[in-house]
Amino acid sequence: MRRGESHANSEPRLPFSLNLSAWYHHASGVVVDTHVLRLSRRLELPTNEDPVKVERDLMSLIPQDRWIDFAHQLIHHGRQICDARKPKCADCSLETLCNSGDKTWSSH
Ligand code: SF4
Repeated sequence: MRRGESHANSEPRLPFSLNLSAWYHHASGVVVDTHVLRLSRRLELPTNEDPVKVERDLMSLIPQDRWIDFAHQLIHHGRQICDARKPKCADCSLETLCNSGDKTWSSH
């Protein structure tokens, strides 16, 4: 395995920029990893598909002092609840806000 690669079954690491942002308490943008991208799309937050444009959309929607926490919360929610293949919608606190076609359960 080369540097920067990961095992297919290993837990994805937090992006390096997110770790640095949290360390220095300074956000220069919203980290858009696979969880943030998937959850943002499912919650219809961005109007774009391209990750760079999604970041710009999120930066305009979320107050700058919330960028770091927002990314952490979406990554955590994506890992624990909003799985890519089988989201646990019945356990999701955002379910009433979500209209995703990927939902496995719906209250509305
Ligand atoms: S309701 Fe389901 S698809 Fe929507 S955010 Fe929650 S877990 Fe994800």
